[in-house]
Amino acid sequence: MEQNNTVPTAGKERKVKGKVVIDIQRCKGCELCTTACREQALTLSGTINSKGYRYIIANNEVCTGCTNCALVCPDAVITVYRTHPKKKPVDITPENIREQLQSIMSPAK
Ligand code: SF4
Ligand code: SF4
Repeated sequence: MEQNNTVPTAGKERKVKGKVVIDIQRCKGCELCTTACREQALTLSGTINSKGYRYIIANNEVCTGCTNCALVCPDAVITVYRTHPKKKPVDITPENIREQLQSIMSPAK
């Protein structure tokens, strides 16, 4: 089950912003995404998920929607959306990322 965990804080106003949704039960806390995020929007939680890992918490107020975090996550647990005040959020996670990971984890026989 996908769960979202975000930290609401005040941020500077942008026309287009990012929003990340993290499947925290599948996150293993490797922190590759925190290193890849230039906005420092991602941090490790103080609590653990059902597998015993500290998971990632997103501060969507500073997220720009660059997708770096989704690109580096080895388990593809991050979905990135770009939001605009007058439009619906759009999933911009690169399409080939999940397909490539699925073919690696479940190669065709
Ligand atoms: S890269 Fe993926 S698995 Fe690793 S901490 Fe970030 S969200 Fe979790
Ligand atoms: S989309 Fe970019 S800015 Fe937003 S959390 Fe991921 S790496 Fe950081």
